[in-house]
Amino acid sequence: MPERKLKVKLLQHTPSPLETIALAARLCYSDSDIDSLYDKSKGSAEDFVKKLMSLGHLSPIEHASYTFGIEGVSRALLAQITRHRIASFSVQSQRYVKQGKGGLNYIIPPKVKELGEEERFIEQMNTLSEWYSEWIDKGLAAEDARFILPNAAETRMILTMNARELLHFFSLRCCNRAQWEIRKLAWAMLALVRQTTPVLFDNAGASCIGSICTEGAMSCKKLREMKELSNRLNEQIKNGMSYEEIMRFVEEV
Ligand SMILES: Cc1cc2nc3c(=O)[nH]c(=O)nc-3n(C[C@H](O)[C@H](O)[C@H](O)COP(=O)(O)OP(=O)(O)OC[C@H]3O[C@@H](n4cnc5c(N)ncnc54)[C@H](O)[C@@H]3O)c2cc1C
Repeated sequence: MPERKLKVKLLQHTPSPLETIALAARLCYSDSDIDSLYDKSKGSAEDFVKKLMSLGHLSPIEHASYTFGIEGVSRALLAQITRHRIASFSVQSQRYVKQGKGGLNYIIPPKVKELGEEERFIEQMNTLSEWYSEWIDKGLAAEDARFILPNAAETRMILTMNARELLHFFSLRCCNRAQWEIRKLAWAMLALVRQTTPVLFDNAGASCIGSICTEGAMSCKKLREMKELSNRLNEQIKNGMSYEEIMRFVEEV
């Protein structure tokens, strides 16, 4: 089936992120050497990092990085997510990777389905896919044949962000004003990092969740609903949330 669905995995993160952050922050304020600070930070970092976050001293949290594997997203999403300059990306190449023999893989916006236009959408994808394959068979390089590929074409990427950039990313992309596909991805990423490091992320999300709405006249004015959604995610995580449950939650956002 060429229609693809969002799949996101937290592949890696800095081991003991809170201890690393606490070590970095303590270094700023102490005349002790790094070995003693390291011993002090082991096992006692949580409250210290909470305090740090409440003071807005955020540069030490840049020492914790998170790497995600992302599939089942469109090239339209790629154009948006790569605007986040402090992130690191490795993206499947349309120059070196030809579309699969099974045809073009693509994302269908839910609203296209609601409009009853799914069949026409798929027909169009099939036509583009056929042209692409014909041109490849005639010897056209993938780097040229790809010019026919749509924004809907699936892409895959490995993405790394540090915790500070993640907070910023969530503030923009978990917001109701963000486009639906990147918003769902952002909420899925938020759920995954909240599971691993709640101290850093349990209050993260759209700006209205942690502090105040920054959207001004464009505000969705759904502050209460957003806070409830965020609290519900925390509750579900506390009760043990499987990957399937995260993806079901993401369907709602
Ligand atoms: C709802 C929404 C609608 C959007 N619509 C459009 C649109 O119509 N057109 C469009 O082009 N883009 C649009 N964008 C993209 C937006 O303008 C940003 O490019 C994107 O959100 C990345 O944000 P950022 O620059 O804050 O993030 P990052 O690149 O992740 O940077 C993080 C922070 O680092 C600092 N920083 C990074 N680089 C610099 C620098 N060179 N100089 C100074 N400070 C820096 C800034 O404080 C920045 O906020 C939209 C984004 C959203 C969320």
